[in-house]
Parts: sequence; structure tokens; C-alpha cells
Amino acid sequence: MQSTLETISRLHALECSVCRATYSATVLQRTSACCAAPLLATYELHEPLSPAAGIDLHEGSMWRYRRLLPLLDEANQVSLGEGFTPLLPLTSLASRYNLAELLIKDEGQNPTGSFKARGLSMAISKAKELGVAGCIIPTAGNAGVAMAAYCAKGGMRAVVVMPRHTPQAFKEECYWYGAEVHLVDGLINDCAARVRELNSANELLDVSTLKEPYRLEGKKTMGYELAEQLRWTLPDVLLYPAGGGTGLIGIWKAFREMQALGWLPAEVPLPRMVAVQATACAPLWATYTGQQANSQQYVGRPTIANGLAVPRPLGEALMLQVLRESRGTVVPIDDQGMLTGMRELARHEGLFVAPEGGAVWMAARKLVDAGWIGRHERMLLLNTGSGQKYLENVMGQA
Ligand SMILES: *Cc1c(COP(=O)(O)O)cnc(C)c1O
Ligand SMILES: [Zn+2]
Repeated sequence: MQSTLETISRLHALECSVCRATYSATVLQRTSACCAAPLLATYELHEPLSPAAGIDLHEGSMWRYRRLLPLLDEANQVSLGEGFTPLLPLTSLASRYNLAELLIKDEGQNPTGSFKARGLSMAISKAKELGVAGCIIPTAGNAGVAMAAYCAKGGMRAVVVMPRHTPQAFKEECYWYGAEVHLVDGLINDCAARVRELNSANELLDVSTLKEPYRLEGKKTMGYELAEQLRWTLPDVLLYPAGGGTGLIGIWKAFREMQALGWLPAEVPLPRMVAVQATACAPLWATYTGQQANSQQYVGRPTIANGLAVPRPLGEALMLQVLRESRGTVVPIDDQGMLTGMRELARHEGLFVAPEGGAVWMAARKLVDAGWIGRHERMLLLNTGSGQKYLENVMGQA
């Protein structure tokens, strides 16, 4: 049975991110057959659509943008209330550091404690719509927990593969949701190899970052929210902790879509996008600074910011494109710096952020000191997760 909302999504097709070949969005797709590259969802954006008509103002979650999201039938929506997170002014830190405007989008308030909820709500909803019975994921922690929760809600089998050194809280939460958990010695790329073994018969949908097109669509809602919450203006600089890069790529995609829709007028400049990495695992930084041609052979080490331990991101080219188009940059922050950032956000702003969030604040400080960001500029930090599941990594460091 198709609900009346079946027609409201403006989903058009899927497009290869390398050669732009198009693929049907009505059947299950993974990466592109032509280039083995990520597929990007495209929409009919040229028919007039005002924000008033395009946004469901009664919906207090990311699903308020469902017209620009890929789900065709609302009956397939698997939601725990993800998204529409607060945008908070960091007034105390701004005055301490003499900054004109410092904002944080707190994604730690999402279901399962991180912004992974957005991507997995979308991916699991689409998996349900396309008749998938179970999903599998290699994860540094948060994505696995989110997938397990949404699979539980959607009645699907869940298989999660994570590094053995991941804090226990991530594993436990997966067990509570009834997921099958496999532990691997190594980082997320080693988990990906195990996923290929476990799923050699291809019975499960692999929802790895950018290996299916819909997690990105969930993540892009952060871009829509930012613009709406800032009343159709944008920050001058946006700082994001990049692992696989879906947030960076997704937010930029949202900005481009809103430009095409006319929601963001041409005179509103897009922000300079900053990818923040962990010093222990900074493949994008190594490529960006010319130390390597790409990260296909990069070897990373563990960091307290588990979500940043992604040595060989599939979306590297797309991330570099965002940095280029936005005149952005990459900043590595070490684990000590992340702890300092977490302390400052906790003591002065009442926010217990993930180490990834601590890294982003330290990167902002670093770029201000270097003169790359002016003190008069409007800065936006993305805190991607809550600190709570990372206790084991930061115990006794307050
Ligand atoms: C996964 C994760 C990241 C990195 O997200 P990508 O989409 O892989 O770039 C950052 N912070 C937290 C808390 C995460 O869980
Ligand atoms: Zn292609």
C-alpha cells in the first residue's frame, strides 16, 4: 500500500559521483557499476518550491525536509526522532577568546548519542522500502550503535563489526538492540575486510559510509537545518570532524540543493569548510598537504576520537572537492588537544561533547591564532556526538 505522501519526495535518480552516469533510484543500488564510486541522489529542484511549502513545520525531526529526501512512502520511515538539534551560541567561550560569533550545533542530542542517527535512519528506511531483510556495517562505534537501533525499530537483522579496542559502552548498546557483534583487531578498514568475509554471499545490505547512497541523504539534513535555524543565512566558517566525510559532503550537497531551489539566494556566500582530523589518523591532511597522492595505502593509529580513525576513506575525492570549492582547509588535532577542547566546552558551556567535538573547538582556536579565521567572523562548530559513550577513553581527565 502506498500512502498519499508517496509523491511528495522529489527524488529523481542516482548519479555516479565520478562520471555522472545515472542509475535508477527505484531498485537497490550500492556504488556505481561504471566507476565503483559513491552514488549521489538527485532531485527535481527546478519546479518552484518555497521553504514554506517545502518544509513540514510540524515535524520536529530531520523528516521536516522529506520532500528533499529519498523516501517515497512514509509508511517505510524508521524514525526515533533524529535531527532538528539545537544550534547554541557559545557566549562564554566567545568572550574569553574575543570572538564575535561562535555557534555549535549539538548533534550529541540525537537518538543513540550521535549524528550517525540521521544517516542510519535514512539508510534503514530506504532499506525497508527496497525490501532488505538485514544490514551489516563496519564501524568505529557510533554508526554501529545507530544501525543496531534502527534495525531493531525496523524489524531487520543487524550485524555490526567494530575494532576490539572500541569503548565497551558502544558494544553493550549494540547487544541491547539485539545486534550480532563481531570484534576485530585493527581499525575500521580491517573491519571492512571482515564484513566482506561475513557477507560473501551478499545476504545483507552493507551500509558502510558511501557504499550505499542514502546515509549521505540523512546527513545532509544538517545543512538544511543550519540554513533554516540561521534564517537563510550561513556561517563564514564551518568546522567538521571528518572521518569518512559524510557530514562534510552532505552539508555541502544541501547548500547546493538550497541554492538550486532558491532557498539560499546567490548573494549568500557559502562557508569555508574545515575538515578536522586526529593527528593519529589524518589521511585527508596527508593528501591535502601533498605528502601522498591519495590515502589508499595510508596507515592510521587509534585515537580517543574513535569516529576519526578512518585511514582510507572512500569519499576522499568528494571531501577534497568540498575543500576546494569552499576554499576550506584541513587541521589535525592530537588527543591531548581534544581533551583540552572537551574540558573547555564542558566547564564554560555545560556541554559534554565527544572527543571529535573537542577537536573541532581546538581547530577553531588554532585557525584563529593563525589568522586563517578572523575574530569578527561567524564560526560554526559541529559537535557530532555526546561524550558519554567515550567515558572509558577520557576517564579521570576532567
Ligand atoms: C562517525 C563520526 C565522525 C565522522 O563522521 P564521518 O561521516 O565518517 O566523517 C565524527 N564524529 C563522531 C562522533 C562520529 O561518530
Ligand atoms: Zn561512473
